Amino acid sequence: MQFCPTSFALSLTMLLLSPVAWGTVNQDPSSQSVKRSIQESSTSPTFDSKSAFNYLVKQTQFGPRGPGLAGHERCLNFLQNELKKFADDVQLQQFPFTLSTGKQVLLTNIICAFNATARRRIAFSAHWDTRLWADQDSDPKNHKKPILGANDGASGVAVLLEIARHMRLNPPSIGVDIILFDGEDLGTTGRPETFSVGAKYFARNLPPDFNPRFGINIDMIGDRELRIPREVSSDRFAPELMNLLFRTARDLDIPQFIDAPGSDISDDHLPLNEAGIRTVNLIDFAYPDASNKYWHTLADTPDKCSSASLAAVGRVLLAIIYSKASFVQ
Ligand SMILES: [Zn+2]
Repeated sequence: MQFCPTSFALSLTMLLLSPVAWGTVNQDPSSQSVKRSIQESSTSPTFDSKSAFNYLVKQTQFGPRGPGLAGHERCLNFLQNELKKFADDVQLQQFPFTLSTGKQVLLTNIICAFNATARRRIAFSAHWDTRLWADQDSDPKNHKKPILGANDGASGVAVLLEIARHMRLNPPSIGVDIILFDGEDLGTTGRPETFSVGAKYFARNLPPDFNPRFGINIDMIGDRELRIPREVSSDRFAPELMNLLFRTARDLDIPQFIDAPGSDISDDHLPLNEAGIRTVNLIDFAYPDASNKYWHTLADTPDKCSSASLAAVGRVLLAIIYSKASFVQ
């Protein structure tokens, strides 16, 4: 993902001026019923943070997982096999891509359906690839080395794998689609349009009947010092959904969700919105803080992440899946 400095000031201005994006933060009627809906839910979802963190570590044990690397292929096999245990259906969407280095690689989006016959559906996504170049590393000698991507790659996938496992044990009444995108992090720094290769391909080649009510993309949510503010473009695309997410976090006493405007981040939610699927992005781009010293560096390792951070996001997503709020059902 990429920070969008050129659009940041404009977006912030729009957010502050927009009655839709700003004025409804505390007034959305659908979100007022969330707490009651969570309490009334017949299923009391418990997110297993230890299992989720194991999923994060497991992915990093394959090494860097950038397209064309051995770890990429090994991780794909692992993800496919693991998801087949839990989902009704697992499809691979594969396509060739030429890297900026000229190398040809095969990219794979993993598309899973839970409660596959349900008509009312929601979608979750994360990118499973890791960046091939540690181009933000403080040591220039590392700039062409691939990163381990414990937070930037493994964290979002870890939460979604654990949610997949949970749904096998506690079948939801709504349908849920989980998409793991490849090729998110292949872009050139400073050129946001060159990122999200897998999500763009998916948006141009949507599976038949793929029509979720909304989508939630998660990225960089494993940071030990997790703080997830309201990503600016998400508030433009789906303010009601953002209200629901942040109200749910408040009702569950999850302090890692910060109900205040954050940055404008170019990420995998953008192609989905362009394809007509209103999708928000949950992301803590400041890793570990405004210094961003671990982002796209060799220091993006599991010790910088925590199970509590994965649980903060996992609990909110589970509450949405099993919520009786009309917005979801
Ligand atoms: Zn990245």
